Amino acid sequence: MPVICKDCNNPWTIPYRLFLQGVVFHCPACLGSFVPKTAMYRAVRETFEGFYNRRRAERDAFERKPGRDAAAFEAKQAAEMEEFKRTLEALAHSMKPAGKTVRPKGIAAMFT
Ligand SMILES: [Zn+2]
Repeated sequence: MPVICKDCNNPWTIPYRLFLQGVVFHCPACLGSFVPKTAMYRAVRETFEGFYNRRRAERDAFERKPGRDAAAFEAKQAAEMEEFKRTLEALAHSMKPAGKTVRPKGIAAMFT
């Protein structure tokens, strides 16, 4: 899970399985703390679970399909993985403390 340090703006990563509400993480650059709030944790979990559940279902459906086009399927999955990474990046940005330079909107509003 990509996160952005609130103290030094350094982007760093927390393994998804360790990303739990109330756990204190420290930025590797400045040791500033990062504590996932309940809303953050929920948004991240829904993003991950939704993506991987959908992916599993699509792969199951694909494997049952006669005359399947493996290359097209792989390309579609790769494109979806890119989209998923962009969603995580957007989440990371929206998790920065609000009120610095931009007003929270859209998904960021969930964290205020
Ligand atoms: Zn930092």
